[in-house]
Amino acid sequence: MSLESLKNEAKEEIEKASSSQEILEIYSKYLGRKGLITELFSKMKDLDFEEKKRFGMELNSIKIFITEIKERKLSTIKEQTIHNNLEKLRIDSSLPGDCQNVGSLHPLTTVIDNIIEIFVGIGYTIFEGPEIESDYYNFEALNIPKDHPAREMQDSFYLSNDILLRTHTSPVQIRAMQSLKPPIRIIAPGKTYRRDAKDSRHSPVFHQVEGLTIGKKISFANLKGTLEYFAKSFFGEGCEIQFRPSYFPFTEPSAEVDIKCIFCEGKGCTICSHTGWLEVLGAGMVHPNVLRNVGYNPEEWQGFAFGMGPERLAMLKYSINDIRMFYDNDLRFIHSFINS
Ligand SMILES: [Zn+2]
Repeated sequence: MSLESLKNEAKEEIEKASSSQEILEIYSKYLGRKGLITELFSKMKDLDFEEKKRFGMELNSIKIFITEIKERKLSTIKEQTIHNNLEKLRIDSSLPGDCQNVGSLHPLTTVIDNIIEIFVGIGYTIFEGPEIESDYYNFEALNIPKDHPAREMQDSFYLSNDILLRTHTSPVQIRAMQSLKPPIRIIAPGKTYRRDAKDSRHSPVFHQVEGLTIGKKISFANLKGTLEYFAKSFFGEGCEIQFRPSYFPFTEPSAEVDIKCIFCEGKGCTICSHTGWLEVLGAGMVHPNVLRNVGYNPEEWQGFAFGMGPERLAMLKYSINDIRMFYDNDLRFIHSFINS
C-alpha cells in the first residue's frame, strides 16, 4: 500500500470515528508502537542517504498530518459531548410543573404562638420547665400536700414514687420564682399529662399555657384587666368575660373565667349548654403558702396566676368538636388550616 493511501485511509477512519476511544485505537493502529506507519520507519535503515532523507521527511509529515487530524477530531467530540449534556439539562418551561404540597402549622401551634404573642406584647417572657417533674414541684410546693383531696382531681402518670409526668404547667411557677428575682411576668406553654381515657373532650396528653405575675401591690383588678385584654385580643374586641368563684389549692381567691358564648352571643345554644357562657381558663391570686414555699414574703410580694388550655381555645376558635382531631395526624384536617 502506498504512503498516500495509508495516509488517506487513516484520515478517513479517524473522521468516521464516533468516540475518543475509537480515535485513539485507530491512531494506535497507524502510529502506535507497532503501527502500520511506525513500522515503515524501521525500513529506512535499508535506504541510501538521499532516499532515507526524503522518505523520513515524508513519513514525518504524514505523522504530523494524522496527529493533527486526531487532535482536531478529539476536540470536536469533546465539544459535542459537552453540548449533548447541556441539551439534556435544558429546562422546558412549557412543561407543567410538579405539584408541591405547602406545609402548614398545626392549629395548636398557631394558637399557642398566638397566645404567646399577646402576652409577650404586654411584657411577659417565656419560661419553660421539664415535663418530667418531682412530686414536690408538681404538688407539694403548690400547696397540695400528700393527703390533699386535690390530688384526686388530677390522675397522674407516676414514673416512680416521687417522679411523675407533670399534670399541669403550674410547677413552672415555682421554678420561675426560685430562679428569677421579682417582679416577675412569665408565661409557660407546654405539654401536660393525665390518666384520662381518650374521648371527644379528653386526651391523656394536652397543653397548657400558665401565666404568673409577681409584684408589689398586685391585686385582683390587675388579674381581671390582664385577662380581659387577653380575651379581647384572642377572640375579638367584642369579647366579654365573667369571673366565677372557684377553688384551686395554689390560688386564693380562685376563679374560673368564662367568655360570652361566641356562637350564640350569649343567647344560649347547645355549645354553651344554654348558659350563654363558655369556660376558658382558671385563675386566682397566688396563695400565700406558695409564696412562702419559695421564700417570698407575702406581705411584700403578691401575684396572680392563670392557666389556659390551647386545645379548648382552638376548639372554640375553629369550631372543632373533638379534641382527638388534634392528635390523629389526619393531613386533611391539618391541611384545612393552611390559611388560618
Ligand atoms: Zn352559646
